[in-house]
Amino acid sequence: MPLKNHRDYAEFADPMARPRYTGIPTFMRTPYAEEVGGVDIGLIGVPFDGGVTNRTGARHGPREIRNQSSLIRKINQTSGISPFDLCRVADLGDAWLEQPFHLKSALEEIADFYRRVHAAGIVPISVGGDHSVTLPILRAIAAARPVGMVHFDAHCDTGDDYLGSKFHHGAPFRRAVEEGLLDPKRTVQIGIRGPLNDAEIWKFSHDSGMRVIYIEEVYEIGVPGVIDEARRVAGDGPTYVSFDVDGLDPAYAPGTGTPEVGGFSTLEAQMMIRGLRDLKLVGGDVVEVAPPFDPSGNTALVGANIMFEILCVVADSVAARSGGDNP
Ligand code: MN
Ligand code: MN
Repeated sequence: MPLKNHRDYAEFADPMARPRYTGIPTFMRTPYAEEVGGVDIGLIGVPFDGGVTNRTGARHGPREIRNQSSLIRKINQTSGISPFDLCRVADLGDAWLEQPFHLKSALEEIADFYRRVHAAGIVPISVGGDHSVTLPILRAIAAARPVGMVHFDAHCDTGDDYLGSKFHHGAPFRRAVEEGLLDPKRTVQIGIRGPLNDAEIWKFSHDSGMRVIYIEEVYEIGVPGVIDEARRVAGDGPTYVSFDVDGLDPAYAPGTGTPEVGGFSTLEAQMMIRGLRDLKLVGGDVVEVAPPFDPSGNTALVGANIMFEILCVVADSVAARSGGDNP
């Protein structure tokens, strides 16, 4: 005899209508899909933190964000966007890694996973993992042409070799420019701050033409000014959104490997992301949530909500261009 479950209750046919503490967690209670057919936007975990330079733990991010994301509901109250009505959204599981302890090959395995996703016409929204994982994602989705990027972070992540490796979480966007995946002139970095060992550490951002908005300028020009700049820099080409949770002040997101005091607030982050509506968005990620430093679960909750904000503007963009234009 089958066990009694939600199928016995018509009002619970929709997974998002069931009590939020029940069931096996997927991102935002979306259906789990092992096959890539019939999906417009894939929510993907990348449980890899082999690229961190300080405290590890972000490999546990996807599982905790799945758990906290059960609090997410269907509609963005502010924008009115209902992403699950606009697009077919599924949890595609985690990018699989055969050899997680080999940094370079692990990144290539991640890229392979995303190549399959991209080949199926699916726009990915990912959860790291540390920020090194954005490079292989871009290797898949930006192979045909460079993308622009709106990047929230305390760090530019355009460093170079560190202790003999070029592929740590402080360098993905330098590598992405070198590999022809990222257009630096269509890249804006928001919230940069913190003490430095090397005054020139983010020189590559400036030299390559990225627009760097340090945290002081964020407060000088305010959220509307940041949105105007992000939209101006990204323009109307394909654009990726990358959100490192350490861009937030550690008061809002302490559970991360490389916290920097003096950041923007969760609400400011939400408003800045909402301001990206109508850009041509081709994917996004939330990285660096490290549950071992997040005993209250709040950082994972913040990560889940930031993911939802990104999903809303991406779904709006994907729906607007459905009909053949996949940039
Ligand atoms: Mn960072
Ligand atoms: Mn980063």
